[in-house]
Order: sequence, then structure tokens, then C-alpha cells
Amino acid sequence: MNFQAIAIARQAITDKHGTQKPQLTFCGEMPCPICSAGKLSYQISAVNGHIAAKCETENCVQWME
Ligand SMILES: [Zn+2]
Repeated sequence: MNFQAIAIARQAITDKHGTQKPQLTFCGEMPCPICSAGKLSYQISAVNGHIAAKCETENCVQWME
């Protein structure tokens, strides 16, 4: 697991959505900022603002907080 890739992908999500937790758990996707080929699907928890994300490209980024 590449922690730098996770940090970059997480930053892309918080740049887009901010760091405040959403009122309702939010699910979205964006072109993956790491591989540029896949889609990065993510979820931002309304409970604690934690982000879980996964790129559809195998062995690209994936994490859960
Ligand atoms: Zn990717």
C-alpha cells in the first residue's frame, strides 16, 4: 500500500468537498488522481467525516478510515 498515493487521493477529495463532515453520508466518484485511468469511488461518513475510497484500477489506491 502506497501511503503517499493515499495522501494525494485524499487531498483531491477534501479539495473538492472540504474537510467538514457532510450532513448525510456522501458517496461520489472522480477520475483517479493517481492512475488517471480508473475511477476513484469514495464515501464520506456523516458520523465522523471519515473517508473511505477505492480506485477501480487494481493495485491503485484503496483505504478506509
Ligand atoms: Zn487509480
